[in-house]
Amino acid sequence: FRDHKLIVHIIPFENRRQILVTHDVTESERIDMLRRDFIANASHELRTPLTVINGFLEIAASGVEMDKDTRAAHIRLMTEQGNRMQRLVEDMLTLTRLESVDHLVRTEVINMRALLEQILQEAKALSNGRHEITLLVEGPDLKGSTDEIRSAMTNLVTNAIRYTPEGGTIQLRWEQTDKGPRFSVEDNGIGISPEHISRLTERFYRVDKSRSRETQGTGLGLAIVKHVLLRHHAQLVIDSTPDVGSQFSVQFPLSAAHSQQ
Ligand code: ADP
Repeated sequence: FRDHKLIVHIIPFENRRQILVTHDVTESERIDMLRRDFIANASHELRTPLTVINGFLEIAASGVEMDKDTRAAHIRLMTEQGNRMQRLVEDMLTLTRLESVDHLVRTEVINMRALLEQILQEAKALSNGRHEITLLVEGPDLKGSTDEIRSAMTNLVTNAIRYTPEGGTIQLRWEQTDKGPRFSVEDNGIGISPEHISRLTERFYRVDKSRSRETQGTGLGLAIVKHVLLRHHAQLVIDSTPDVGSQFSVQFPLSAAHSQQ
């Protein structure tokens, strides 16, 4: 019954109040449509790598002669596509898990310095010297789910690396503001045109599909970020200019800060 939003209309009628209880069909239809869209998109995303893998397997099975280098190239392409499918399935599972319970079951105190230094090391490994990445930690520790916060922040940092050409700079900041703790990732990469910004957290929404494939994106990263932030009562603010760069910031409420006393 989860799809049906129960709506109670209170209608004034001849000085009495009548209560009309209906199921909001449009809401359930909308959710149905979103689900169909998700399945269609997910199938399409999985079919592409499967087609590539099956194609190479057919060639191998046909017993056609091929030199060592060609064989190695085929195996490399199949491995890449297998990894792509694995990332997709993992992101889909993460999203499903996040959606199945809409609030945090357990919160812990997250050591933000330790977490962000770990994220910085991973970012440097991923960038492999192609970007200058800096980290500033001035904010407090945070109350929340370590795994979820790690996943949301890693997604934002990974995107900054993906969508910033070689030689670019990426700044990670953790600060306390008068509204609460704030995490931001600023890059001087390709940027995003204004018409795309409001749709970025939709599942499988990408500004440039082919580029995102090349950069190994699944199209689910920002949808995961959105769900994690909803559960932490935090807000995502996106500020971006094409060809100049982007800033993704996450504003947590004051109550999310862990005070030391
Ligand atoms: P993907 O796996 O494709 O990166 P995301 O959900 O993480 O999917 O992001 C959705 C889209 O938002 C990306 O395909 C990309 O077009 C755009 N995007 C996200 N982060 C950035 C960024 N830092 N700079 C430019 N574009 C970005």
